[in-house]
This record gives sequence, structure tokens and C-alpha cells, in this order.
Amino acid sequence: MRPSDPPPLPSLRAAGMRHTPQRQHILEVLQQGDHPFTVEEIWERMPKGRSGIPTIYRNLERFIAEGWVESVLGEDQVMRFVRCHSRHHHHHIQCERCGKVVEVDGCALGSGLESMERQSGFKITRHKLMLFGLCPICAEKER
Ligand SMILES: [Zn+2]
Ligand SMILES: [Zn+2]
Ligand SMILES: [Zn+2]
Repeated sequence: MRPSDPPPLPSLRAAGMRHTPQRQHILEVLQQGDHPFTVEEIWERMPKGRSGIPTIYRNLERFIAEGWVESVLGEDQVMRFVRCHSRHHHHHIQCERCGKVVEVDGCALGSGLESMERQSGFKITRHKLMLFGLCPICAEKER
């Protein structure tokens, strides 16, 4: 289980990125909650006039490559971004009611992947998997 306090922001410098206020702000915005944000929502929460949406996109791509951020394609086909804390291979579960996203460490696909390789003849090198369900709070309301 993750502690309830979010871990500190990752070090831009350690990842070889120049420390800019803008990069810092994007990470701080994403750090604010467990709900994914669209790029426009990130932009709205940034200090005014600081950066354009294309720049935010570019930084998000860099953060995704670094494993700090994960993109989540919603049912509405809109891409949203959420902070990633796990440094290992992991998956995300999104609540279908409130949109909250949590990380789950580990992967239950193991032997399933082998069978998919046999079926397809592909050597599978990576995968992305999004899980959906009801978070404890929404499940409680449901009852
Ligand atoms: Zn993650
Ligand atoms: Zn929920
Ligand atoms: Zn996996």
C-alpha cells in the first residue's frame, strides 16, 4: 500500500533535465490529487502566461518517458495525465464513478503473456493495461 502522503517531487536535475519553474509547476499540479488532469486542466492551474499548451505536452512526454507520469485515455477518448510514483512495472486502476486513479504494483499477466505470444507469434516486449472498477468510497455509496 502507498502511504497517504505523496512522495516528494522527483529531481529534474537527477534525470538530466534543466530545472525550470514550468516543469516544476506541471509536476506540482499533477501531485495535487489522485485524479488525472487533461492538458488544459494542467494549463489552467499553471501561473498565467507562463507556458503554452504545446510546451506542456512536450514536458509531459518527457515525464512519461521518465516514468513520472502516465497517460490515461478516458472513455470520452480524452487523454489525461496522472502522477506515477512506482518505479517498477505496475498498472493503474481508475474508478468508473469518480475518476480517481490508483497504482497497483506488480503484474498479474505473467503466464497470460506467454499464451498471447504463442497465439500471435509475437515476442511481446511491453504492454500497457488500464483496469477499471469502483473505488472503496464509491463502492460504499453504491450499497
Ligand atoms: Zn503509475
Ligand atoms: Zn470512486
Ligand atoms: Zn503488467
